Amino acid sequence: MFDAFTRSVFINGVWEDIHEDTTDTIYNPATLEPITHVAFAGGKETDRAIQAASEAFPVWSNKTGRERSRYLYRASQLMLDDAERLGKILTLEQGKPLKEAIGEVKGAAGFLLWYAEEASRNYGEWIPSSIKSKRLVVIPQAVGVVGAITPWNFPSSMITRKLAPALAAGCTVVLKPAPETPLSAIEIIKLFERAGLPKGVVNLVTGDARAIGKRLLTNKNVRLITFTGSTAVGKYLMRESAEHLKKLSLELGGHAPSIVFADADIEKATSLVLGSKFRNNGQTCICTNRLYVHSSIADKFAQLLKEKVKNLKIGLGIEKDTEIGPLINKQACEKVQSHVEDAMDKGAVVAHGGKLWEGDLPGHYYQPTILSNVTEDMKIMHEETFGPVIPIQTFTDEVDVTQKANNTDYGLAAYIFTENTNRAIRVSEKLDYGIVGVNDVFPATPEAPFGGIKQSGIGKEGGHHGMDEFVEKKYISIGID
Ligand code: ADP
Repeated sequence: MFDAFTRSVFINGVWEDIHEDTTDTIYNPATLEPITHVAFAGGKETDRAIQAASEAFPVWSNKTGRERSRYLYRASQLMLDDAERLGKILTLEQGKPLKEAIGEVKGAAGFLLWYAEEASRNYGEWIPSSIKSKRLVVIPQAVGVVGAITPWNFPSSMITRKLAPALAAGCTVVLKPAPETPLSAIEIIKLFERAGLPKGVVNLVTGDARAIGKRLLTNKNVRLITFTGSTAVGKYLMRESAEHLKKLSLELGGHAPSIVFADADIEKATSLVLGSKFRNNGQTCICTNRLYVHSSIADKFAQLLKEKVKNLKIGLGIEKDTEIGPLINKQACEKVQSHVEDAMDKGAVVAHGGKLWEGDLPGHYYQPTILSNVTEDMKIMHEETFGPVIPIQTFTDEVDVTQKANNTDYGLAAYIFTENTNRAIRVSEKLDYGIVGVNDVFPATPEAPFGGIKQSGIGKEGGHHGMDEFVEKKYISIGID
């Protein structure tokens, strides 16, 4: 499928050859086999990419929204038409089951479509003045050159969720994808190329994260950094971008609580918790990290959940019936293992799994795991696990469990399961999170605002709100006779 070297630096409409010594090997995390090499580029390439994006900006931002939307429509359609092949590439480099990968690609195309539509609805305001001889107008204008830094867990949709609103608003972009998953990024840039996007509007640089990041942060032409990744790197970007007071849009870590009330539909809730926790093998910033189950239904719930977890099919993502693929790398497995061991040392009981998978694949596999007898002092109840482990704690009181759910520095997503509408609204309003799912664990969608509070981030992606990040609102005060 791939040659030994895949060109991965795209500047001003040209795919560049980078010298052989400066390459990065891309591995299949399921088999540990090398797939291809890509460029390990750095500061110099980033500077040129920023230059290209800066030069493309005046023309691109001056097009009408309708003109810009045409490119996005085309890219969206091209992506949908090619979803199967793109899904296979995604599974190859990231490991997730093919069905999920194809679903992600279609979702990624959904962001292109949504912002193709939004491009022509970037409304301004006419403010009634308190002075008769004045007219007050607010016009939205593109921020400028955007530096986009994306993660490996959703290598396709995290890119279009940033690039689509940026392009729709009139911004130009330098994209730095995760080093683990550059192939999906390369394919997305090729789609834009096929859609006829003018040169310099989108640029791609793979390689040295620190060096690329440094140039994006220190070049004053980059007006906004949009980032999805760890809270630690998010804080670093915030600190380092202070010098130029760049705008920031940060989607960071999470530690989602799922609360199952006594009045929940247990069958439905177990399936949803399963979906929330094991989609992408738990490597999702909004996936359930802690589960609180009302004590009156805890035994029944745990039993049913265990039966469902036992039946999950582990294997090669590319095989049709696989539900659990590998984790992204060795460090990810070690982190999961350390959370399980810490919990066991402090009294947790392994109800299922609890160790590395001993299957016939050499990749980074960990058994889907359920822990019971969990207490608040365990690491897993505070640190993001990013792996297939469900720690279960029981509760009896609504106020108490809501406080426990809020007792974290994170504030991305939380889930509640209840058939009582009053409770659903009451608890949703009390949860300190940017997103609350009520009997729903898949809240991310192009038309709604996705984003965290507290140390989970700043800003929204998706919906008309997502476009606001890439727009400055200019106020024009007009004096008239
Ligand atoms: P993870 O640990 O899950 O890989 P990271 O926050 O480290 O999460 O990575 C998310 C993205 O941020 C990746 O594209 C990564 O290369 C990038 N990144 C990591 N460190 C830096 C940095 N110092 N400057 C710029 N980008 C960085």
